[in-house]
Amino acid sequence: MINFFNTLTGKKEAFVPINAGEVKLYTCGPTVYDFAHVGNFRAYIFEDLLKRFLQFMGYKVVHIMNITDIDDKTIRGANAQGVDLNTYTQKYIDAFFKDIDTLNILRADTYPRATEHIPEMVAIVKQLIQKGYAYKKDGSYYFSIAKFPAYGRLSKINLEELQPGQRVDADEYEKETVHDFALWKAKKEGEPFWETEIGPGRPGWHIECSAMSSKYLGETFDIHCGGVDNIFPHHENEIAQSEAASGKKFVDYWLHCHHLIRDGEKMSKSRGNTITIPEILKVKNNPAALRLLLLSTHYRKTLNFSFQALDQAETALERINEFAGKVKYVPYPEGETSQVARILAEADQWFRAGLSDDLNISKAMTALFNLIKKVDVAIARADFKSQDAQKVDLFIRSINTVLGVITPIKSETAVVDTLRHKLNLIPPRVIVADETEMPKITAQQKDKIERRQEARAEKDFAKADQIRDELAAEGILLEDTKDGVRWKAVPIPKKPG
Ligand SMILES: [Zn+2]
Repeated sequence: MINFFNTLTGKKEAFVPINAGEVKLYTCGPTVYDFAHVGNFRAYIFEDLLKRFLQFMGYKVVHIMNITDIDDKTIRGANAQGVDLNTYTQKYIDAFFKDIDTLNILRADTYPRATEHIPEMVAIVKQLIQKGYAYKKDGSYYFSIAKFPAYGRLSKINLEELQPGQRVDADEYEKETVHDFALWKAKKEGEPFWETEIGPGRPGWHIECSAMSSKYLGETFDIHCGGVDNIFPHHENEIAQSEAASGKKFVDYWLHCHHLIRDGEKMSKSRGNTITIPEILKVKNNPAALRLLLLSTHYRKTLNFSFQALDQAETALERINEFAGKVKYVPYPEGETSQVARILAEADQWFRAGLSDDLNISKAMTALFNLIKKVDVAIARADFKSQDAQKVDLFIRSINTVLGVITPIKSETAVVDTLRHKLNLIPPRVIVADETEMPKITAQQKDKIERRQEARAEKDFAKADQIRDELAAEGILLEDTKDGVRWKAVPIPKKPG
């Protein structure tokens, strides 16, 4: 059973999709007026985790993410640069998709653009006019909050201060001002506009998401996500518009992720403390570690971004990747052990249980790290077989469809050899071109040569050199070749003095 914290009800609830086996997911996409910063990607990574986990649990996920390419901010930006809206937004759209791919975020099924869905928005406004929820003032249409008693249910805002008939035109506004909001903004000097049945103008921000979600997912769908900043007014207004127009419930589960902060402050453009994905990668070019960092704090907790935290994520990821490599690339003896099957079953259960509990990523990662610890012990005890390795490898690949960060590292030959040697999988690489061609040596000397080879494999060169010197003192000179070690008899050097 999967449980999610539903902002609408304010509690964790069992997740039951409308159609068995299928999840319809809408996530608010970028407003393309600037380069998205890492705080924005925290939300997109959370949504990616959600989607990948649902797929992991066997659901087919239909995922729609809009692109807001017209609103107050995009218009302001385009005008400031003296370019048309499309030219202005396109470079941010391109950068957004590049970052999405860099962070290994699965693409949505569709990325509808607001400017390409004006007729759908006009249709909803017309419905709202017909049903008496919308009224016209100076060529603009507004949603009358007083007509929609459920208003405020998502954000739990206090409606007492609501003064019917007071209007707000801005796409974003503060909680203190609960006003009727603009559905359609009348044509204005210096703004793009469309000639439509409800007059010339352009959409408000909120109607964009109502129109694009219902077009691709239907009037009622399963999950709607965004950042906590979206709860009010954006999502509250989406609910009002959609439910007033359709007369049906809009969304069953609302999931919101919390802020990303930097040095204790919320990251936002107005504070000037934002940092983009390419800017981070210029300092540390490890996208998988960045993804792990953004992933590994629970989505309803504040995430503190720092380069120190990124270093820690990188170290953790190296540990995982080395382990994955050890499992994938080292040849273990044939067979399987019962204990590894048990360790795996436990890890699988904890991983699923963790993420099923409102995407508790800490529990899920603990399941992985416990697995690593236990399997490492099994390997060190030579209690680990080839079929165990295959199963662990399969498990890692399977959970990586959710995490999307693991790349097994092929260890250096020496490390692998050491491991093989410790497991007695292969005879030590000691030996030796063709022993018959070389002078006879004692069993004790041969043993020394083998111990020197072990020391070399373990990179204990001091010990290796010491043994070589001892043999030289006995008149045996060693020579390392690609076929193994060779030796020849030389005069025993005289001791000094
Ligand atoms: Zn939206």
